[in-house]
Amino acid sequence: MDAAAAADLCSLITTIAELADSLFMQLATDAPEVDSHSAPRSKYEVAVRVLCEFTSKQGDLDTRFTPSPSAQEGVAGHRIVASRRGEGYETEVMVAADYGTLHVRGRADGYDPHANRLEEFKTYRGDLSRMPANHRALHWAQLRIYGWLFCQARGLSEISLALVYFELASEEETSLVEVQSARALEQHFVDHCQRFLDWAESESAHRRSRDRALGALRFPYDKFHAGQRQLAEAVYCNVRDGRSLLAQAPTGIGKTIGTLFPALKAMPAARLDKVFYLVAKTSGRVLALAALSRIKASAANLPLRVVELVARKKACEYPENTCDGAGCPLARGFYDRLPAARAAAMTIEFLDQIQVRELALKHSVCRYYLTQELARWSDVAVGDYNYYFDLNAMLYGWTLAAGWRVAVQVDEAHNLVERARNMYTASLDYGALIEARQRAPATLKQPLACVDRAWQRLVRAQQEDYRAYDSMPAALLRALEAFIAAARAYLSEDPQHQADKLQAFFFDTVRFCRLAAGLDCDTLFEIAKSAAADPARRSNVHAILCVRNVLPRRFLAPRFAAAHAAVLFSATLAPHDFYLDVLGLPQDTKRVDVRSPFHPEQLTVKLVPSVSTRYRDRERSLAPIAEIIAAQFEAQPGNYLAFFSSFEYLHAVAARLSAQHPGISLWMQERQMTEPERDGFLARFIAGDCGVGFAVLGGAFAEGIDLPGLRLVGAFIATLGLPPLNCVNAEIERRMSAIFGAGYKYTYLYPGIQKVVQAAGRVIRAPSDRGVLYLIDDRFKRREVRSLLPAWWRISEVA
Ligand code: SF4
Repeated sequence: MDAAAAADLCSLITTIAELADSLFMQLATDAPEVDSHSAPRSKYEVAVRVLCEFTSKQGDLDTRFTPSPSAQEGVAGHRIVASRRGEGYETEVMVAADYGTLHVRGRADGYDPHANRLEEFKTYRGDLSRMPANHRALHWAQLRIYGWLFCQARGLSEISLALVYFELASEEETSLVEVQSARALEQHFVDHCQRFLDWAESESAHRRSRDRALGALRFPYDKFHAGQRQLAEAVYCNVRDGRSLLAQAPTGIGKTIGTLFPALKAMPAARLDKVFYLVAKTSGRVLALAALSRIKASAANLPLRVVELVARKKACEYPENTCDGAGCPLARGFYDRLPAARAAAMTIEFLDQIQVRELALKHSVCRYYLTQELARWSDVAVGDYNYYFDLNAMLYGWTLAAGWRVAVQVDEAHNLVERARNMYTASLDYGALIEARQRAPATLKQPLACVDRAWQRLVRAQQEDYRAYDSMPAALLRALEAFIAAARAYLSEDPQHQADKLQAFFFDTVRFCRLAAGLDCDTLFEIAKSAAADPARRSNVHAILCVRNVLPRRFLAPRFAAAHAAVLFSATLAPHDFYLDVLGLPQDTKRVDVRSPFHPEQLTVKLVPSVSTRYRDRERSLAPIAEIIAAQFEAQPGNYLAFFSSFEYLHAVAARLSAQHPGISLWMQERQMTEPERDGFLARFIAGDCGVGFAVLGGAFAEGIDLPGLRLVGAFIATLGLPPLNCVNAEIERRMSAIFGAGYKYTYLYPGIQKVVQAAGRVIRAPSDRGVLYLIDDRFKRREVRSLLPAWWRISEVA
């Protein structure tokens, strides 16, 4: 994990933790108003902490890692402080009051009636003088609100307020005390409430006009495509009724607008706060924004706030800097300038990254963190899957904390299986442990040595290069947890290790232990002995320990449950049961299979059973595949895509074709192409030109690209796309077999054929398209394979 990602992880953990015990902003009434003529009747309810977060945050943004106490440590610390108080001391005093339509509530930590002193406890680690001033200001703002609520409840004219900071290691208290009059506190309360209320009322007005406009929204085209209406109706009904939907719909019918439009249309009826449109790839994000732009353009004055979420590495103006006041000018004073930037953003509404960048630069705030703030106030957020599904996902955390009612739309949902597996997998490399040991200060040498010893014992006891275990070795887990505790204490004292290998190992270990704690039959613990890239470092203990998720259902299920509705759609979601099982969708998930609008006459599908693309037959297959491509090219010159299982195979066939038919123009996908290189590959598909693009099945050109008409007239698929036979897949197959009784299908067949169908879908993009598809391998004849291919294909065998 790199330093930026690590800092991100920490800031998200902190954000979620901060929000988890608070109500963000919620209408106390059941439903938002949709009648514009009625007087506002909404009442807002807000926790003191959230009120102050909104009105009092000031100063610098600072995402440097400062290990904060866990929730349990905080509770334990509070108990210790309270236990030290004398007789008559009141703890956890509930307080509340109204200001206009705003109801403010909270719980003060303690009140000493003898000293007339209201106390707020804050636990911390390390040196109190390092606490940023803006944190202290926030604590005071919060305590003064409690002060007024308490004075009002008890009829007091004056009160002593104490911020009590409790250091967890030394158990020492530091108290900061001030005496305030009830009048001054009331003024403080009124000032904060008024600012919050102004914003809340403008939000409520926005919500009313948004829902009114969405109720009248019309489809932005003259008519639906064939199949698009069926999809849109299914999405509308399921979002309105709060259900999950698995929708398989062919490419080319306009799935993006066919799912976004009905979800927006259902927002008022479903009383939705937000729609999250989640994508696997940048291309999906671009299409979603184009569809939303079209919807907004088609409806005059549609007050719909759209925000595009992008990764920090794409949004950062100073990638070499740290995200704090000293390191970055856009972090310095971020919270002082945030309210103006936020208010300006609300007037723009369509906040793609071009707009957000312009706005952020104008207000001198960080674009990445501004975008995160704007996501709270948006109606539609468009971003990668990880914003909702990741272990520390921001949108999921906010949904839970704020009680948002959301519809989650998952574009190209077949990708979620693999993406989610990666999200819930963690590994530790022996090389990283060694580097951490080399950089460790004296206090961490012993815990890391224990980790090393446990590691070595474990790896040396394993004879095989690879082995999967059903449980986590207790000794290793204990050693890792002891290291985490020691490192947390050390990093609190000395937070200078921002981009350090030691800190990186600490983050990796935290993630590893978090996932290891929930090891079950859906997850493997595995040890893979490896040769380090540098042979000098190779040793018999060099290994990678991995907690590998193979079935993400346990992690995804609560995320689907937190959404009012979830719509997962793709051209390839067959068989539905596989996706329901693996993704943990609710049992009552609706399914819809939209009939293809295309006719068999549009696509000539030729199956070549005389060729085997199995690994052992590769060499023999090169010449026949080259001849098939050349013959088709001669019969019908034009642009083609040829798909293979690997780069090696791709290059071997391309070399053979070039040697035998040098007149055919070829271009090839390469490993790790940059975005401009990928664009260059696609730019060669010019209508009327001729040539063959060689690509890897399942790669960047096998889905999510659109080459309509004569830009692409055919495709060759010389593989079944089956995942490779190796130790990991063999273990996954064993698990799938034990759980579902379908090891081969769940591990190899379904994921493989899904890729074939996706790649084949590049050929026919519109009702006017015509093309040819070659399925090159004898296994395409098998019934279990044929049953997974689109029903509208008419397949003929060729010699
Ligand atoms: S612009 Fe500054 S605050 Fe924003 S992500 Fe980059 S370094 Fe961090």
